[in-house]
Amino acid sequence: MEIDLSGVPVFDGHAHNLLLPTWLKEYPFEGIFTESDNHEYIKFLSHETLSFKRSMLDISKILECPSEVEEIKKRRNSMSQSDLTSLYFKEANISSIVLDDGLCSSRTRSVEWHGKFVDVHRALRIENLAESIIAESTSFDSFLSDFRDALLSTSENVVAYKSIIAYRSGLSIRRVDKETAREGYMIEREKTSARIVDKRLLDFLFHLALEISSARMIPFQIHTGWGDRDLSLIDSNPLLLKSVLEDEKVSRAKVVLLHCYPYPREGAYLAAIYPNVFVDFGLSVPLLSIKGMEFTISSMLEIAPVTRVCYSSDARFLPEGFYLAALWARRILGRVLWNSVEQGEISLEESYRVAERVLEGNSRSLYLGY
Ligand SMILES: [Zn+2]
Repeated sequence: MEIDLSGVPVFDGHAHNLLLPTWLKEYPFEGIFTESDNHEYIKFLSHETLSFKRSMLDISKILECPSEVEEIKKRRNSMSQSDLTSLYFKEANISSIVLDDGLCSSRTRSVEWHGKFVDVHRALRIENLAESIIAESTSFDSFLSDFRDALLSTSENVVAYKSIIAYRSGLSIRRVDKETAREGYMIEREKTSARIVDKRLLDFLFHLALEISSARMIPFQIHTGWGDRDLSLIDSNPLLLKSVLEDEKVSRAKVVLLHCYPYPREGAYLAAIYPNVFVDFGLSVPLLSIKGMEFTISSMLEIAPVTRVCYSSDARFLPEGFYLAALWARRILGRVLWNSVEQGEISLEESYRVAERVLEGNSRSLYLGY
């Protein structure tokens, strides 16, 4: 049994832009169903997960075609990107999306383009911002002031900052003094690659951005838990953020722990201790099996306040992910809450209030302030 949440809209607090038409031809349809970047894996093994098989059934219903992958691809190819996007977004019943446009930004549609279909806002990736200004910088001081100015002068449409430090030097982030960070800057400045990896510099910039987030009351999203092989999963455990969360200078910053899986309990524990911490189950829903999605959402609700658990899709490149995440978040949450009702933990009426908060209300008030 589950509570019917099909009419509740979702606020998608974290997702990525769709691909530009030129890159659509290059990108394999299966790519959005896996975090692997291995060509053979994407081509063959991605078809063999429970979530992929389930997703083909779900998609075939929307596209009104047989559920075989090749039939689905044929049907998709007969439709324009705009038609597909409009169809999936409408079926997903999304009230707003926060797009992190720092993922393959040269290959994706602009945030504004998505605004044709739905209310959109932007999350600014702090590492990408640093990388965009380091090459042109003439000194560490000028680099820092450009970085600070850019964060302070974002337009109203930027409703979150985002850090992918988990992908670079991990979540054991320490306070670094300016002189130590300068050493890191000098090394990065001399490199030909724009990708910043020096832990001293990354940790310093992370704290600086978090302080600005705290002062401006702009939520700060942090990638935690799983991702592609670029990441060390051990170093992405949200519990590693303890010293950051204990730092008095940033104790007012609203911190959103994205994804969390396979550490949903660890993330939720932090949300149960620190009043400024939120957890988000994007990516796990819809990329895990039904059991895995249930584990993720129910683990978070085991201990975190219901006002601190947020929906997102973490969809990227193709519109299917936006729809599948919304579909399964409603179903799984409906199932988890039904269990609570059945066991006398909450009333049926209360379960709808909780669902509305988790799917829509928490993120709306977090990112839009109402
Ligand atoms: Zn993401």
